[in-house]
Amino acid sequence: MPDIGELLDRQREWIAQGKAGSVKERLMRLAALKEAIRSREPKLLAALRDDLGKSEAEAYMTEIGIVYREIGFVRKHLRKWARPRKAKTALTHIGSIARIVPEPYGTVLIVAPWNYPFQLAVSPLIGAIAAGNAAVVKPSELTPRVSGVLEEIVTAAFPTGGARVVQGGPEVSEELLRHRFDLIFFTGSPRVGRIVMEAAAKHLTPVVLELGGKSPCIVHKDADLKLAARRIAFGKFTNAGQTCIAPDYILVHRDAKDRLVAELAAAIREFYGDDPLRSPKYGRIVSERHFDRLLRFASEGRTLHGGAYDREKLRLAPTIVDSDWEAPVMQEEIFGPVLPVLEYGELGEAIDAVASRPKPLALYLFTGDRSVEEAVTRRVSFGGGCINDTLMHIATPYLPFGGVGESGIGSYHGRYSFQTFSHEKSVLKQTTRFDLSFRYPSSERGIRII
Ligand code: NAD
Repeated sequence: MPDIGELLDRQREWIAQGKAGSVKERLMRLAALKEAIRSREPKLLAALRDDLGKSEAEAYMTEIGIVYREIGFVRKHLRKWARPRKAKTALTHIGSIARIVPEPYGTVLIVAPWNYPFQLAVSPLIGAIAAGNAAVVKPSELTPRVSGVLEEIVTAAFPTGGARVVQGGPEVSEELLRHRFDLIFFTGSPRVGRIVMEAAAKHLTPVVLELGGKSPCIVHKDADLKLAARRIAFGKFTNAGQTCIAPDYILVHRDAKDRLVAELAAAIREFYGDDPLRSPKYGRIVSERHFDRLLRFASEGRTLHGGAYDREKLRLAPTIVDSDWEAPVMQEEIFGPVLPVLEYGELGEAIDAVASRPKPLALYLFTGDRSVEEAVTRRVSFGGGCINDTLMHIATPYLPFGGVGESGIGSYHGRYSFQTFSHEKSVLKQTTRFDLSFRYPSSERGIRII
C-alpha cells in the first residue's frame, strides 16, 4: 500500500498548482480517460469475464458502453455546468449582484464495490474529474483482475497526477478513511456505509453513500404479464442478480401470480436456454461465501422454477421461489439470482408492506392503470425506479441516481455528478455607489450616496 499521507500531500500540491482548474484541462483529462479505456478494451473485457463471468455483450452494455456515454455527455455539457450562474437578489440587497460559483471540493475518495467493478469506480471518477477534483479510487478486492486493469487505465490517462488507484481490501479502506479527504463517495453495503460515515464524521468530511437494500417489484393484475416477465427477468438475472437495483422480490396480485411465474420461466428459457449453467450469456457468483448464502435461499421454501447449480464454477441458475415476509430470503438483500414471489390481494396491502420497510434503492411497478401508478409513487419512498420496466432509470444521464434513507445519501450521473462533486460557492458583490444605512446601529437613516 502506498503511503496515503504522502499521496494526499502530492494531490493537494497538484491542486494548489491549479492543474485541474480550467474547464479545458478537465475536458482533456476526460478525453484521456476515454482513450486509455478504449485502448485497453480487450483486456478489460477479459478481466470482467475472469472475475465475474460477464459476457462481452453484457460487459459492454453495463460497464464499458455506459462509461463512454457518460464521458461523452459530461464533455458535451461541462462548459455550461461549470460556468458561474447569476442568482436573484432580494429587495434588501438592492444594487448588489449575486453569483453561484461551482468549485471543486479538493481531493475525493471513491470506494467501489465488486458487482460492476469498472463502471461503479469510473462513473464517479468522471464526475470528480469534471468538477476539477483530484481523486483516489479504491476498487473492490473481490474483482482483482478488473482492479488491475483499472489501475493501468488511470495511471496511463493521468501520468502527471490528479487521480490514483489504490488497490486492497477493507484494511486499505480503513487506512484511507483515517485520512482527511474533502469528499467521500462510497458505493457498497449499508453496513460498510455506516463505517464510512462514522470515519468521515471525524474530519467533518461530506459523504455520498450509494447503498443497496431490497428493491420490490410490484406486478398488478392488469399488467401485460408476458412483457413484465421479460423485463423483470432481464433486470433480475443480468450479472446473475448481482445488481444493486435488481428487483429483489416480486409482489404480485394473487390473480396474476401463476401466469406471471409461467411467463418468467419462459423468459428465462428464452434468454439462457434450457440449461442456464452452460449459457455463455449468464454470469457467475463472485465468491464461495456469496454462493453458499444464495444456495441456502434457493433451497428454502417451494421452488417454482430453476434451482440447478454448480458449486465448483460458482454458478446458480435463475431460481424462482414461493415466499412470504417471514422467510429468511426476505430478511436481507439477496444480491443473486434467487427471486422470491409474494402475493397480495389488495393494492393497499402491498403499498403498506413496502412503505413500512426500509426505503429501497429502487422500486418497479407493472401496471397499465394510472391510479395504481399514482398510489404507489405517491405513498412509497424509494431512490428511483421504473413503471413497466426495470433497471433502465439508471441508464439515462438526465435522471439523478441514488438512494434515500437506508439505501443511500446523495445522487449522481450527468449533471447530478457534476453537482455532487462540486461545492456551490455563493458570492455576493455589493455596490459601492450607495450605502443603505438602515442596518447600522447608528441613528443615521436612509440612503447615503457615495
Ligand atoms: P461492501 O460494502 O462489502 O464493499 C464495498 C467497498 O467497501 C469495497 O471496496 C470494500 O473493500 C470496502 N470495504 C469493505 N469492508 C470495509 C470496511 N470495514 N471499512 C471500509 N471499507 C470496507 O459491498 P460489496 O459487497 O462490494 O457490494 C455489495 C453491496 O453494494 C450491496 O449492498 C449492493 O446493493 C451495494 N451496491 C450499491 C450500488 C449503488 O449504486 N447504490 C451499486 C452496487 C452495489
